[in-house]
Amino acid sequence: MTFGGFGFIIHTSQQWRCRLESFDLRRHYIYTPEMLMCTPEADQIISEWGVFSMVNVPEMFGSLVFNDETMKKYLPKGTYKALKKTIEDGKPLDIAIANIVAHAMKEWAIENGATHYTHWFQPMTGITAEKHDSFISPTAGGGVIMEFSGKELIKGEPDASSFPSGGIRATFEARGYTAWDPTSYAFIKDGSLCIPTAFCSYTGEALDKKTPLLRSMECINTQALRVLRAFGDNETTHVSTTVGPEQEYFLVDKKVFDKRKDLIYCGRTLFGARPPKGQELDDHYFGSIKPRVSAFMKDLDEALWKYGILAKTKHNEVAPAQHELAPIFDTTNIATDHNQLTMEIMKKVAEKHGLVCLLHEKPFAGVNGSGKHNNWSMSTNTGKNLLEPTKHPRQNIQFLTFLAAVIRAVDENQDLLRISVASAGNDHRLGANEAPPAIISMYLGDDLTEVLHSVLSGEDYTADGRPIMETTAEVLPNFTKDTSDRNRTSPFAFTGNKFEFRMVGSSENIACANFMINTMVADVLQDFADQLEKAEDVNSAAEALIKKTVEEHKRIIFNGNNYSEEWVKEAEKRGLLNLRSLPEALPLYTTEKNIRLFTKHNVLTEVELRSRCDVLLEKYSKIINIEALTALDMAKKDIVPAVTSYIKELAQTVSLIKSVDPELVPAAQTELLKKLNNLLNCFVKKIDALDKAVVGAKEIENVADNAMYFKESVLSAMQELRAVADEMEANMSSKAWPYPSYGAMLFSV
Ligand code: ADP
Ligand code: MG
Repeated sequence: MTFGGFGFIIHTSQQWRCRLESFDLRRHYIYTPEMLMCTPEADQIISEWGVFSMVNVPEMFGSLVFNDETMKKYLPKGTYKALKKTIEDGKPLDIAIANIVAHAMKEWAIENGATHYTHWFQPMTGITAEKHDSFISPTAGGGVIMEFSGKELIKGEPDASSFPSGGIRATFEARGYTAWDPTSYAFIKDGSLCIPTAFCSYTGEALDKKTPLLRSMECINTQALRVLRAFGDNETTHVSTTVGPEQEYFLVDKKVFDKRKDLIYCGRTLFGARPPKGQELDDHYFGSIKPRVSAFMKDLDEALWKYGILAKTKHNEVAPAQHELAPIFDTTNIATDHNQLTMEIMKKVAEKHGLVCLLHEKPFAGVNGSGKHNNWSMSTNTGKNLLEPTKHPRQNIQFLTFLAAVIRAVDENQDLLRISVASAGNDHRLGANEAPPAIISMYLGDDLTEVLHSVLSGEDYTADGRPIMETTAEVLPNFTKDTSDRNRTSPFAFTGNKFEFRMVGSSENIACANFMINTMVADVLQDFADQLEKAEDVNSAAEALIKKTVEEHKRIIFNGNNYSEEWVKEAEKRGLLNLRSLPEALPLYTTEKNIRLFTKHNVLTEVELRSRCDVLLEKYSKIINIEALTALDMAKKDIVPAVTSYIKELAQTVSLIKSVDPELVPAAQTELLKKLNNLLNCFVKKIDALDKAVVGAKEIENVADNAMYFKESVLSAMQELRAVADEMEANMSSKAWPYPSYGAMLFSV
């Protein structure tokens, strides 16, 4: 529905009254804020007039979450205290307490419109899973009552047979368990009370992404505390890792999306000639946000706030149609749950606005892909950030110790960091345009690098605190500079008081990157603690330890341009890994070093590790198989017929011109006809080659070999097919091409 004319919205206490006057129809709407936000009319109003404000954020924030405040309100004091204690101590919940908590949760959920509950978990596929049970329980008189017991809260038993396990659990032993993670609040989504849970097999192996993450948080807590104690800190009782994931995404118009099978089946385009304009002007980055996108972002913020998600920053990204959302950081497992929820809500809110949110790492060739900058740090329960350099980092031996631990962890575990972000989608991004390269290195910035130099050389570090930044304009205040500038090309950059791991793909679950970072850092901290606990003078022992660590691992530090060709060569000289694709990286997952690392800290057993490796390899092959079949379908059913018709049209034009006057020479049409005919012949050969490549994969049983085959033979055959299609598209009338162009997709909103 479109409105002409004018309109206005008035806010009364409970209702939003909006009056729309149009030339051909007069309407008077009364909406509650809730309704107004989700009607097409409202979207129209917002986008046309930009009128809509006055949202009570504090009241809205967390309104769908059974958070601390709600717990206090709904739980008897004793139960609340007992629950908090079990959460803090990480002990199993007493069934009597669980029953009271479950009852309160159910009462609250029903009051807020829920009828069902579900154990919400994160299987190894990377998406979240849920199976909904209603609260109803029959009564003697043929009626029902709403029930929810402590047992149902603590443990669920979904049939697990269709979730990937990498061979851990045979399908006939389909039993899987979900166990409540009381550290992450329950919430209401689509009429269901969602209980964040871990998911494991009958025999106790982890089948999800949350379990190893929780285990890794425990192990880094243990080791970091030991280091703090060695430094004489007797106050801190808990160290947690914190994460703020910046989420990138694309928005395209739903009508355009629906016409592209590749976007529908694969989430990325498999064909498409380059548009005349891409991102070369960088004019989209931080540009003013278009009204329709702005309305989407506003709606999204509000939806996220209701789930207690601290959505904070939003802006346009570099590529056209690309945007970013950053939340305020939280402890790792909560940040992970929230990021999973954020991705889901983004998709839903987009639909309401007639848009589709693309989370794929590389939806369009030739423009930037999307990632998820994983900002990571460690903080104490007393509120101290252990990666805060403070004013005098050279004197802050404790900070330098933690910094050194991260440096060594990254250098020793380059393979794992690369594996933690490996996926079929992310392979297109790593090393491509503007993305961090597949080589792992760390950026520390000039100041910290100087500090470490002074540790190595024993010379004084002269900078007296942080330098003052002069803004040169009288009216602007001068401010203290961060200890590191931004280096947008580094995959693992120190950004003031945290590390930003930039390789994570936009659609990936951040649990994987974080359980690996936590474990590798914990492993080094354990070694440091072993040494510092024995030391007579902890400061001089730490100084020596930092010096040794930096000497041995300085090759991983690189402050220059990671996108340059020289760096690739230099990195090779330094002996750094360059694992360009998943099939190259994954075999390193199960090396002796990695089995030792994960088993030593009880994060993954060897069986779990091997199964995870297989799941990733299988998924990679499946994705490329789907992409290949989609490309074949598009090629055979749409592209070949479209080009054939266009050639026919040209041929008819040629003979028509000749029939008018045999002296006339239809040279242009004939040339184009020949060109397209040649391309079409070539295209059909490439179709045949891809067909054969897909069939060939069936013969390779070993999962690792199969994945490698998909990369070497199938993916490359797809790329060859695409090149010909794109050339045909560039030479045809846009009306004759069967799909919306790149220009139409990228500039559709
Ligand atoms: P930029 O895009 O310049 O990197 P943003 O402000 O967009 O910066 O994102 C920074 C992210 O880092 C935010 O999500 C923020 O909450 C997060 N962050 C800040 N401090 C910490 C910390 N101590 N631990 C983890 N994440 C943090
Ligand atoms: Mg960032």
